[in-house]
Order: sequence, then C-alpha cells, then structure tokens
Amino acid sequence: MSKLSGITPSGHVHLGNHLGAVRRWAAEGGPEDLYFVADLHGMTTSHNPAKLRSLAGEQLAVLIAAGIDPERVFVQSDLVRELGALTWVLECTCNYGEAARMIQFKEKSKGQAGVRLSLLTYPVLMAADILLQGADEVPVGEDQRQHVELARTLAKRFNGTYGDVFTVPEAVLPPAGARVKDLADPTRKMSKSTRDAAGVVFVFDEPDQIRRKIRRAVTDGGSVPVHAPDTRPGMANLLEILAACRGGAPEDLAEEFSSYGQVKDAVADAVIEELRPLRERASTLLGDVAELDRIRKAGAARAAERGSHRLSAALRMIGAN
Ligand code: ATP
Ligand code: MG
Repeated sequence: MSKLSGITPSGHVHLGNHLGAVRRWAAEGGPEDLYFVADLHGMTTSHNPAKLRSLAGEQLAVLIAAGIDPERVFVQSDLVRELGALTWVLECTCNYGEAARMIQFKEKSKGQAGVRLSLLTYPVLMAADILLQGADEVPVGEDQRQHVELARTLAKRFNGTYGDVFTVPEAVLPPAGARVKDLADPTRKMSKSTRDAAGVVFVFDEPDQIRRKIRRAVTDGGSVPVHAPDTRPGMANLLEILAACRGGAPEDLAEEFSSYGQVKDAVADAVIEELRPLRERASTLLGDVAELDRIRKAGAARAAERGSHRLSAALRMIGAN
C-alpha cells in the first residue's frame, strides 16, 4: 500500500501545513509512501521563476527537517521529463470535456484574462504524478477529490484500452485533524497564498514575530476562554492550536485560563517551541547547499526509477517508441 502527498510552493510553509500535514507525514508515513514538492503545479497561474525555485528548495528543506525519510521525498520538476512524457500519454487518454468541467479550473479561470493552458491540463499532470508512482491512495481534501477521480478514470481507461499498466488510485480523506484558521480572520483557513501575512504564522518566522502575530489574533468580545467554534471561532482556533502543540482537548485546556491574554501567551510559547527545532534544522539544511542538493538528487533518482517501468510500458502500449 502506498500513498502520495504533495505540497505546492505557492508561498512559505506555515503552522497549518506543519500541524495538519508535514508533522503527520513524518510521524505516520509508511515505507512505500512518497512526498513531493509540487513546483510544476505552481506555474499554472502567473508566477515568479526565482521565487518559485527558492520556495521549492525551502519546502524540500522543511520536509527533510521535519523528519520525513529523505528516501521518500522528491521535487516534482526533477522528474519533468518522465512526468511530461506521461502527461502527454494521459492527455491522449483524456477527453477535452473531462478537463474543462473540473470545478477548480472553472473557479480559477473565471473572469481571468490570459488563462494558461496548463491550468486546464494541470489535473492531467496530477494524474501523471499519481500514476507514475503507482500510488494506491491519495489523501486529499474536498477541493482535490475531483482530480483524483479523473486520475482513476484515466488509469481505468488506459488499462482497458491498451493493457494493464496503472494502479487505479483512490482518494482517501486525510485523518481528521483540526484545520488551523487564519489568526486575522478565523473564518478562513491559514493558507500559503493569503496576501496579508498578519494572520499566518510561518515556520521561518522569528519567535518575537510569532508572539506578535498571536497577540494580535482576532478574538471575539468575550473574556473568559471557552471552546465554542461556532460562536467564538478566534478563541476556538487558539485553543485548537494549543491542543495540537501540547496534546489534550481544547475544551479542557480552556479551563486552565481565566483570560484571553493568558491563552495567547500560552499559545505563543507552545507554537514557538513547536516550530523551533523545525526552523533550526531547516535553516541549517538550507545553509548546506551541497547536502541538500545531494538529498534532492538521490530522491529524484529513486522516484524516477520507481516509475520508469510504468512509463516505458505505457509509451510502448500506446504506440510510441
Ligand atoms: P495554498 O493556499 O497555495 O493552497 P495551502 O496552505 O493550502 O496553500 P497546500 O500546498 O494546498 O497548502 O497543502 C499542503 C498540505 O497542508 C495539505 O495536506 C493540506 O491539507 C495541509 N494544510 C494546508 N492548510 C492547512 C491548514 N490551515 N490547517 C491544516 N492543514 C493544512
Ligand atoms: Mg491549499
């Protein structure tokens, strides 16, 4: 059984990515699971090449620093030849209408001038990511389910038309875990691509910056801390972050405090300590360019090797080479 998960270098890695994904990947990943930095996916809308490159390196360093086995990590663009070839095969397996009806494409292209063709075909590249590696399961949120469904359709269609090559993947819901909310607007989730960074705690933020952001977190008019996500989303978010860092249930933690200020201080302390080792290890790795490069090349070679027989078989069966 193998799972495939990715993170897009659309911005700096934040506390939500760490608590909701990266930390779990490091703790629970199975020996066949793979994790990748999806930099090619970061090119489907207007982007800055130098920034994308540097964010991809930063994310790779964070994944390794978090303790994910370096043998199971790679950067997507290091496999661009394999993925480009497989994407073509899968584009020749996919109907135009299937790509055009993807909800995410409709949402992201609506009202935009100069929509990149890659925004339309990106789910096919995502299918290539999954099918090249022969992943059985893809843990995704609601927004990506339709894309995994497309990967399933393409795998079945290819296998049925040309011969059995691909594992038919399944979308699985990631284990339940709180979604970290934006500190400045607790009605939306903390996101890399949010323009205003005031409510986003980044892994590379300095401790006093983290403390400042948490002190300024938007809360409601109450004064005695309770965990009530529907009516007091700001306080609930802080208590959930504290619970994720320290363990325990947010409702119980609430009882330890008599003021909002106390909760904020405790959350700031916990988050600073939670992120400190990750930030330090990732910074050290980023400073050791030769070591990071070695890890990156080895990961790419293993991932390419792992998929090479599927790619060759698919090309042969569809009539190429
Ligand atoms: P973007 O805004 O570009 O979509 P993002 O912050 O949502 O960025 P992704 O690259 O989409 O990050 O997701 C990487 C992983 O982090 C996924 O597994 C996703 O479920 C998880 N994740 C993202 N945001 C949060 C959050 N606020 N709380 C918990 N997990 C999160
Ligand atoms: Mg996202």
